Amino acid sequence: MGNLHKHRVMIAVGFFILAVILHEIGALLFVSNGVSEYIIDLAIISVIVIMISFMFKETDETAEELQKNRQRLNNIFDTLDVAIWSHDLKSDILLITPGIEKLYGYSLDEFYQDHTLWKRVIHPEDVNILAEREQSFLRGEPITNVYRIIRSDGEVRWIQDRGIPTVDENGNLSDFNSVLFDITDRKESEDRYRSLVEMSPDIIAVYSRGQIDYINEAGSKLFGAASQQELIGQPIWKLVAPAILEQIKHRELTLDENFDEKMTFEFQARRLDDKRIDVEITAMPIFYEGRTAKQIVGRDISQRKQAEKTIQYMAYYDGLTGLPNRNMFKKHLNEVLNERKNQMLAVLFLDLDRFKIINDTKGHAVGDLLLKLVAKRLGLAVQNDGVVSRQGGDEFIILLEDTDKEKAVNVAQRMLDEFSHSFEINSQEIFVTTSIGISIYPVDGEDEETLLKNADTAMYLAKERGKNNFQFYTDQLHLLSSRKLELENGLRKALEQEQLVLYYQPQVELKTGKIVGVESLIRWQHSDHGFISPDEFIPLAEETGLIVPLGKWVLRKACEQNKKWQQQGYKAIPIAVNISVRQLQDDDFVELVKKVLNETGLDPRYLELEITESIMQNIDRSENILNQLKDLGIKISIDDFGTGYSSLSYLKHLPIDGIKIDKSFVDDIINHSNQGAMVKTMIDMGHNLNFTVIAEGIENQEQVAFLKKNACKIGQGYYYSKPLAPDEMEKLLTNDDAPKSIPIK
Ligand code: C2E
Ligand code: MG
Ligand code: MG
Repeated sequence: MGNLHKHRVMIAVGFFILAVILHEIGALLFVSNGVSEYIIDLAIISVIVIMISFMFKETDETAEELQKNRQRLNNIFDTLDVAIWSHDLKSDILLITPGIEKLYGYSLDEFYQDHTLWKRVIHPEDVNILAEREQSFLRGEPITNVYRIIRSDGEVRWIQDRGIPTVDENGNLSDFNSVLFDITDRKESEDRYRSLVEMSPDIIAVYSRGQIDYINEAGSKLFGAASQQELIGQPIWKLVAPAILEQIKHRELTLDENFDEKMTFEFQARRLDDKRIDVEITAMPIFYEGRTAKQIVGRDISQRKQAEKTIQYMAYYDGLTGLPNRNMFKKHLNEVLNERKNQMLAVLFLDLDRFKIINDTKGHAVGDLLLKLVAKRLGLAVQNDGVVSRQGGDEFIILLEDTDKEKAVNVAQRMLDEFSHSFEINSQEIFVTTSIGISIYPVDGEDEETLLKNADTAMYLAKERGKNNFQFYTDQLHLLSSRKLELENGLRKALEQEQLVLYYQPQVELKTGKIVGVESLIRWQHSDHGFISPDEFIPLAEETGLIVPLGKWVLRKACEQNKKWQQQGYKAIPIAVNISVRQLQDDDFVELVKKVLNETGLDPRYLELEITESIMQNIDRSENILNQLKDLGIKISIDDFGTGYSSLSYLKHLPIDGIKIDKSFVDDIINHSNQGAMVKTMIDMGHNLNFTVIAEGIENQEQVAFLKKNACKIGQGYYYSKPLAPDEMEKLLTNDDAPKSIPIK
């Protein structure tokens, strides 16, 4: 073989090697971007073929020119971060490009001297690739391996090694080429990304042709798979229902407006165990393994969705009873009004009677339970005839659609009937009734606001008419509700503008007619309405909570007045002050009493608090407060005794000084067939328990005689005196030196 020919062969080999390198670089650069490997190869082969044919045409090239070409080729190899190993096994010519020095840190000579050096520097953990490689070469198949090597300086690098064997016609390996790249940087950045993807708490997945190409661990866990492999290769409909996929396709669920770049969707996916989870997914087109695919990043938003649902629920439903709330009622009624104008509607406004007392005395927990039970019973009564909603507090509204007056009466009556039997709470029986007001569309109002207001007004009429009944709205009714509103507002002003005064009614020793105490009774002189009875405005004050400041005022005023009388030289007698249960519930009540006594200088012996039997409903708390009050040295008596629920046996547990027998029993002395038997029993039992017994509302001599005969010592009533203004009262008071008694008529 002539020199020229030898050079030509070498250059041809060089070109072949160049082709291989270009192929690898092309693959590295372009395949990940989706360009087909074959297109790259085709381009490279065309270039090489043109170059080789050009070279063979130049037959009279000189050795010098060839030497130059060879040098040029070497220079190309030098600039590439790549090494080529080309071994012609037949001629045993080994060619290694100098790039190998850069990759391995060993000199070219060392590789020429020791053909196994490359094997020996393979990282011990990666040597297993050698066997695989050998197998592949024996079959004449190219193989690409990625393994680590340990450089001469000890540094570990990643090498990508593509080996291409050539097999001759006899099936023997004739030559062998290997292209080696240092891919450490790429590998490290790949590893970094891989760990980011793997460790991400978000779902990261790739999806193409209707199936899952890749999903990370977080994703596979979220969908309930035991491993990533369980999902990879699976059809997407396993996780996303076809209907949702359809919606996604039509972008009906798209949150992101930026369609071309990426899209964000929110939908319900299903786990492998068929449970639903809310997910938010962002999808973006990518190339994956040479084809278009979707890169998906997403997260579980079930908690957020739940929170949104809760907020929505809270906005439209009542948390305690689960019934629709006022907002929902309004929304619904407005919708109904807008839709069908030709039907009759009824709005039933329902308010529990005496609920405030139950709540104040039994505690809010019991109150809440009662409201829940009430909600249930209302549901039973109304059934499918209407919608029950809770307006707030102890108020409920029922909307009847397509109805008439008769049907409304039926539903209202069914509801009243439901309340005729007791509610059982904590194994206690609680009786509660309800008052219902009804307004009818379109006669009583054409909009939601008017209908509701008028039903509310009608409800007040039901209260006025003795509670536990229902009333329809009539045009005259607005007068009633406006009075209530006016009084409520007026009461606040009354406190500030001193329209309130205290009157005093003497308590008299029946035997002597001597005044032994006074009861303070509040009076409201309204600028427009004249005198307003405490029976009307005290419940209003209790309802609104105004009783607390009002009660404070009464307590102070009464103590001041009593102290003043004492300072004026009148005989010291106790003054009784009426206290509402609501006041006793106030945490500061005991402190308030202490403070008022201090500031007015009244000796606690001369203050008596009148409370009603309703305190018995929360006996533990009451006992505690009453004990604290007793410790201050004041007296406590039970007002209107006999009208409440208490039995005397209960009372004996409480630190009580006296009972005031209610006027209704005193009336019985003369009216009723039992001839005051009840009063007699009360007096006896009261004395047995060492209580002072006062008879209230004595209006005539007959009653006095009966009471005296039955050993009742003290009485109070118009027979002796009506409640009096302070100056009137003074006329009846005595001083120690000149004892005076009320002249008995
Ligand atoms: P009460 O504490 O049982 O007061 C007795 C009521 O019976 C008083 O009515 C009194 O005027 C009336 N009365 C007394 N003797 C007779 C009689 O012989 N015949 C008749 N027909 N009535 C008689 P008043 O002043 O209208 O008070 C009504 C209720 O208002 C009181 O009943 C009490 O529960 C409440 N109240 C009055 N002042 C206050 C107050 O300052 N605070 C609180 N929380 N409640 C008060
Ligand atoms: Mg009283
Ligand atoms: Mg009373």
